[in-house]
Amino acid sequence: MRKSFLKKARETLQEMRTQLLRSVQAELHEGREQTKDEGMDTYDLASDARDREINFILSDRDREKVQAIDDALARVEDGTYGVCESCEADIAEGRLEALPFTRLCISCQAEREKEAKTMKRFEEDRTYRRLVPGDGDEEGGGS
Ligand SMILES: [Zn+2]
Repeated sequence: MRKSFLKKARETLQEMRTQLLRSVQAELHEGREQTKDEGMDTYDLASDARDREINFILSDRDREKVQAIDDALARVEDGTYGVCESCEADIAEGRLEALPFTRLCISCQAEREKEAKTMKRFEEDRTYRRLVPGDGDEEGGGS
């Protein structure tokens, strides 16, 4: 992985993280009137505490996203960024640009998605069977 690419990836990831947290913060602000921050200074001072606070109110999905970004940043630091977690091949740079926190190369991802789809179909199948009454003669039983 090229150094310049890593540097860019890190910037992208940090930017994503900032924006994600900012949008969560905006929601937090709307929902709460007593936190009226006048200036950015107090805001920055409190950002550590806020980070922690935000962790509590993040939805599971947002939390996963932040986690994925943090993991990717950690991989940038330890030099494993851009390596497929599953087959250890280099992930294409174009893919990393589109999905900076991906852990899988495109073929492993496709493989996983295929598996997930199979699982889903399996589950839908079961749900379907549960919804359909076993002996469906009940609705026409008028006198
Ligand atoms: Zn792979």
